[in-house]
Amino acid sequence: MKRVTLAALVLLAGIGGWIGYSKMNKAPVDMALKAEIEAIRDAFISDVRSLDFPASSPPEVIIESTPAMMTYGDEGLTAPDWDTLPAEVVTQMNNWANSADGTFTGRQYFEKTFNWFLVVHELGHYVQDVNGTGDQLSHYEREFQANQIAVAYWKRNHRSELDDYIAWVRAVLPVISAPESTTPEYYNANLYSGTNDNDFNGYFQFYFILTAYDQIDDLNLADLL
Ligand SMILES: [Zn+2]
Repeated sequence: MKRVTLAALVLLAGIGGWIGYSKMNKAPVDMALKAEIEAIRDAFISDVRSLDFPASSPPEVIIESTPAMMTYGDEGLTAPDWDTLPAEVVTQMNNWANSADGTFTGRQYFEKTFNWFLVVHELGHYVQDVNGTGDQLSHYEREFQANQIAVAYWKRNHRSELDDYIAWVRAVLPVISAPESTTPEYYNANLYSGTNDNDFNGYFQFYFILTAYDQIDDLNLADLL
């Protein structure tokens, strides 16, 4: 009996060690970045609850650089980390910033976009999920509305930081190669083939953000919940 238990323990230790080893090969999670994004999530959740939105089960924050850059799903809200980006994405962000003739670096643009503004965009998808409206909207409508929610939230909470970020987006959009068309039909038809294409996604997301910002005087977070 004892020998069987011991053998089982050795086997388990072996499996555990293998899993531990494969995890060690992954980049360590930047806990400070995770805490920053969790703080944005928590502030958003408490704000929408103050507007009577039934925000139960807020999404977990996962820090991982993936080809999709940023996602919301059953697993949680996944945000990328500059320090673990593939070299080609770092180059792309630096090219955007340098060509934009701005006063910001690729890293600053990346962090403001993916670790600040778009965190609330992804929480916009969480709102759509809670409301059960996500499936009724086209991709274009869903993405545009997530940016309306983000603009409306940042307007309520950090207006001057939002205005500063919008100036950066205005500088970056024209340096990204534009898609053939910005119509809903074109976006809906090409989203999947362009899912991991940062020019396609970047152009459309920044275009959505600027279009939502043009409506800022009429945007009210409570109306979008
Ligand atoms: Zn989205």
